[in-house]
Amino acid sequence: MRSFTDYDAMGLKVGIEIHRQLDTKTKLFCDCPTTMSEMEPSVRFLRRLRPTQSELGQVDPAALFEFQKGRAIVYETDDVTSCLVEMDEEPPKDLNPEAVEIAVAASILTHAQIVDEIHVMRKIVIDGSNTTGFQRTCVVAMNGWVNVADKRIPIQQISLEEDAARKTGGSGFTVNYRIDRLGIPLIEVSTGPVISSPDETERVAKAIGDILRDTGRVKRGLGAIRQDLNISIREGALIEIKGVQELDLISKVVSYEAARQLELARIRNELASRGVKRTELADIFVDVSSVFGQTDSNLIRKALSSGGVALGVKLRGFHGLLGRELAPGLRLGTEMASRATFWGGVGGIFHTDELPAYGISEGEVQLMKQVLGCRELDAVVLVADHEDKARDALTAVVERAREALLGVPSETRMATEDGTTRYMRPRPGASRMYPETDVPPVEVSPDLISTVRAALPPPREVVLEQLLSKYQLNKKLATQLIDSEYLDVFRRVCSTGRIAPTFIATVLTENLKSLGREGVPVHQLTVGHLESVFAAVSEGVIAKEAALALLAWLSKNRKGTVEDGIRALGLRMLSEHELLNIIDRTIDANLALVDETGERAGGKIMGLVMSAVRGKADPSLVTSLVKTRIEYRMRKGC
Ligand SMILES: [Zn+2]
Repeated sequence: MRSFTDYDAMGLKVGIEIHRQLDTKTKLFCDCPTTMSEMEPSVRFLRRLRPTQSELGQVDPAALFEFQKGRAIVYETDDVTSCLVEMDEEPPKDLNPEAVEIAVAASILTHAQIVDEIHVMRKIVIDGSNTTGFQRTCVVAMNGWVNVADKRIPIQQISLEEDAARKTGGSGFTVNYRIDRLGIPLIEVSTGPVISSPDETERVAKAIGDILRDTGRVKRGLGAIRQDLNISIREGALIEIKGVQELDLISKVVSYEAARQLELARIRNELASRGVKRTELADIFVDVSSVFGQTDSNLIRKALSSGGVALGVKLRGFHGLLGRELAPGLRLGTEMASRATFWGGVGGIFHTDELPAYGISEGEVQLMKQVLGCRELDAVVLVADHEDKARDALTAVVERAREALLGVPSETRMATEDGTTRYMRPRPGASRMYPETDVPPVEVSPDLISTVRAALPPPREVVLEQLLSKYQLNKKLATQLIDSEYLDVFRRVCSTGRIAPTFIATVLTENLKSLGREGVPVHQLTVGHLESVFAAVSEGVIAKEAALALLAWLSKNRKGTVEDGIRALGLRMLSEHELLNIIDRTIDANLALVDETGERAGGKIMGLVMSAVRGKADPSLVTSLVKTRIEYRMRKGC
């Protein structure tokens, strides 16, 4: 059970940025398709990204830091999903008009004011996810709103931007990116920071997601939608959380982040009451290698024997606070470890709130505290690695400790799959944009706006009415279908006219949802998967009852075909001949029963046969065959 938390008292404020890939024919600035590659990369090229001097003048600390890390970036590509534009060997082409239309549609649906002229800007990104070192982005509309449960949520901005390359691996100072995703049009919708609870955040994200989906021209599935959250509480700071992919994770991310900020505020108060001063947290690193001469810690032994050191720093007044839980599995010590890894490139840190452990003994801890001159409430953070890396790591640890005196440090964090977050990088400064001179501005004419308005899909009530009357769905099912991602799949499958609409709708909504709850990765299913499973049902290749098992198999075997799944699961429908054999064998095994009760034995026989052929035969066919065979056998006197 969720315990009650008073978010109003906390002063929780949340804003959302929703990013969704558009289902356009081509990318935002070239003619490449907007599909991910399934093939092996055929081209690789290496870049080291360096901002030019003039750009460096206005580069924010985050960008500069990425640059200083001096990463080599290996881009992987093929000649189907990218061209010279993505490789930054050719200037971008004009802004994709289809993407503009979709953004205008979303702007109309959110009552936003559309700009007269769209100007493409460059946003500096130096993590290598763009071959150019910047992302192209442009504002299409501003100042809109959506109503969510009677509250008006302001839409600050609607933009179009290029999706980034996707990271496929890396080691040490090399990162690999696949550039098939680079340049796919994304729409970004951002709300004002007026959302005041975790549940409300989820509702707003859903409402905006529904509006985008209602344009009928956005991509679906995992990876096509990413939500960024800006979260603060009164005693905290503005934290940007990147990359929440699943809608039902949002309220968890918000509640964990609010709790994390609250706990950091408590730690700040605790440090103040212990009288810890900023000047007492100094970059004084002490070589404590001698303490670990005979250590049982493999990690420390390995570091020392390969020329490294065990370097320690005293954190005045931090005893008991490093181990304090901020969110499930996340402690102040974890936050320091993330910083140490990010800035020092070390594997991790040890801190005295978690020791003795990891092969480090109580005796070693006491000796280390003694060497560092610790008093009762002091803590020690230890890093074992090459000296320069260990120094960088501890410098970052002490910096994080100083920030703890102030409360919540402003930073960009990354969402993880369990709803907690991890440090990603410092928060970028404001001056990250400058004009893209290679792409001319695009006028948004009143004509274009009226054309888009006229082509908008019908409102929800109209669609609902149509589902009720044309397809005879009940209201609950029709509503679920509208809320699902699959309304268009439903309509296409229905148009073949061979399967009952209620069955199709149930599979696409309730059944997929319950498979998902059982842990089946149904988000992996493509529209092609769904349509070919329905085709197999309508052609009588598999029974209706087998459709779900096949969909579950396809979710887990993305590259397999429907035929593969049918073979793997043994789902092919039995021929009438095979069915008759099974029925006759069942009757033979229950002769006494048939003799005694005559036709009334039918129910029992039917049950036995069905349990043997479920999913491989049409139940109504089985019923009629069982009936005929029993009658025949009785006439024959068995
Ligand atoms: Zn291209």
